[in-house]
Amino acid sequence: MKKILRGRIVVEGHQLVTSNTGILLEDGVILGVGDYDNMVTELGNVPVHDYDGILCPGLINSHTHLELSTFRYRDFLHKDFVDWVMRLVDSRSLPFRDSDGRLKCATAKQEAEDRGTAFFVNVGNDFKLNERLGDNQLFQFELLGINENVAEHVYSKAMTTIGQSGSERVAMGIHAPYSVSPQLMKKIKYHNDSIGSVTSIHLAETSDEVEFIRTGNGRIVDLLDRRVGSWKFSPNGLSPVKYVDSLGILDNKTLCAHCVCLDDDDVRTLAERRSGVAVCVRSNRFLSGEVPPLRKLLEHEITLTIGTDSTASSPDIDMFAEVSAFYHEFHGLVSPTDVMKYATTNAAIFLGKSDAYGSISVGKRGPIIFVPFDGARQDAVEFLVTEAVGKTKVVKC
Ligand SMILES: [Zn+2]
Repeated sequence: MKKILRGRIVVEGHQLVTSNTGILLEDGVILGVGDYDNMVTELGNVPVHDYDGILCPGLINSHTHLELSTFRYRDFLHKDFVDWVMRLVDSRSLPFRDSDGRLKCATAKQEAEDRGTAFFVNVGNDFKLNERLGDNQLFQFELLGINENVAEHVYSKAMTTIGQSGSERVAMGIHAPYSVSPQLMKKIKYHNDSIGSVTSIHLAETSDEVEFIRTGNGRIVDLLDRRVGSWKFSPNGLSPVKYVDSLGILDNKTLCAHCVCLDDDDVRTLAERRSGVAVCVRSNRFLSGEVPPLRKLLEHEITLTIGTDSTASSPDIDMFAEVSAFYHEFHGLVSPTDVMKYATTNAAIFLGKSDAYGSISVGKRGPIIFVPFDGARQDAVEFLVTEAVGKTKVVKC
């Protein structure tokens, strides 16, 4: 059945903000977007739903871990990043409140959707939990293994798990350069390339990571000693970005989460490879107090997207809260329109999902988000990235 959503203001795409706009829908699919008065004259008796405020596309969370939704960042007060990882890993090794935990992760995802997230890049180790979380995610089945001699085993086991699910097309994620061996990284990347998927990797998240990859020393050693016991890593003086690039991991389908600790050469490399960066400022502020060098990333025109990371390092996985934090962190460098672009069209295009997500346009399904707003059209996008959090509602399409 057809219906028209009438928005006083519609943010069709990050650059296209229109007034008195009609969105024609049939069975959840957008058939047309245009001037409301013309649409009604043309179509006649189609039911109209009025929205006194802004209608905008759902946002894309480019880096999160839904399986960690049972944890709260406040419970992980830490002295440094490695301390946080150890506390998190210890908590995860406690007996998992199985059905309760699974339910909480699904509920957390639903809450994020209700608050305006349309799609998730969801990184996780629990295959069964994550693959059941729906189609509006790019699940990255994350693998770990710093020792080369386990690469084949870890990879084969993952392929078996994926095969048993009945789909060969599940993507894998690389945890980080300090926890995944060169051979395992290459296998993951090869697998994802073969199914046409983006590959996610935590990269250059902290100075501890940089020190370890360059020299083999520092706090990551404590982490590996405790978690792995016997391990081997051969540093060759490279930064994390240059190191993974030397292994052929970086290209235009590699989505690098965090990228806080970058030197000029790293930024140039990310630009040359056309890799994307998923910025998670609230998590970065919590874990290390540092954030990515955004000015340099912008100067090199690197594709930026925005992620919340998990509730183990961030207050919530509400993307409107995250875009607000991003804008306040970098407001001298980016406009509200830029921020909306990172959270919608940039992410949709980079992930290969622009046929379904990232804008309100013909052929897409939504979700469409309503935000009550009584201001002027030119202030609408700024309102979305500053004051919309907590006010958003999903429109039934
Ligand atoms: Zn993460």
